[in-house]
Amino acid sequence: MRLLFLGPPGAGKGTQAKRVAANLEIPHIATGDMLRQAVSEGTDLGLKARAIMERGDLVPDDLVIGMLMERIARDDASAGFILDGFPRTIGQAAALEDRFGGAGLDAAVVIDVDSDEIVRRISGRRMCGNGHVFHVDDAPSTEGDTCDQCGEPTYQREDDQVETVRNRLGVYRELTEPLIAFYQDRQIDFYRVDGVGGVDSITDAIMAALRP
Ligand code: ADP
Repeated sequence: MRLLFLGPPGAGKGTQAKRVAANLEIPHIATGDMLRQAVSEGTDLGLKARAIMERGDLVPDDLVIGMLMERIARDDASAGFILDGFPRTIGQAAALEDRFGGAGLDAAVVIDVDSDEIVRRISGRRMCGNGHVFHVDDAPSTEGDTCDQCGEPTYQREDDQVETVRNRLGVYRELTEPLIAFYQDRQIDFYRVDGVGGVDSITDAIMAALRP
C-alpha cells in the first residue's frame, strides 16, 4: 500500500501519518523530518537546504527526489509506505509516476484545515529532542518549555515563526495544492478528511476510509 497524506502545513499530516503508519505497519516517510535531520547533521544536502527551509521555501526538486528515492529503496519500504510532505510539486509527483508507473500511489488522504487555524496551530507548535510534537495550549502547566510526554526541553522550529508560516502557506497554495486536482484525475483512491477535531477521531475517520 503506497499512501500519500496531503494538506497545508499544520494540518496534522505528521501526527496522523505516524498513527496510521503504525496501524498499517508500514513506514512513515516524512521529507521534512529527513531534511531537518540532514540540517542537524550538517550533511551536504543539509547545508544546501538550511536557508531555504528557514525561509519556508521549497528545497529544489532534484535534491528532494534523490533523497526520497533512496529512502523508498530500503527494505522496510518494500511492502508500502506513507508519504508525508512529498510530493510537494507536480515535478515530484511525476518522479513517483516514473518510479512506480501509473500514478505511483494507491491512495491519497487530504486533510483540510483553514488558514487562520493553521497559523494558530503552527505558532504554538513545539518539538523536543525525542521527536515529540505538541501545542503550548495543550501543555499549559509547562508553558511549552518541556515536553509533555517525556520532559525533555523543547524548541520551536525555525520555520514556525508567524511570518514564515504565511510564506509556507503561500507556497502550499501555489505549488502543492494543485496536486489535489492532479490526483483526483488519476486512478487512485482519494479521501478528504476534516482536520479540525480530536486527534483520535480524525485517525478513526482515516482508518475507516482506508479499511472500510
Ligand atoms: P510542514 O508540512 O509543516 O510545512 P515539513 O516538515 O513537511 O513541514 O517541511 C518543512 C520544510 O522542509 C518545507 O517548508 C520545505 O522547505 C522542506 N521540504 C520538505 N519536504 C519537501 C519537499 N517534498 N520538497 C521541497 N521541500 C521540502
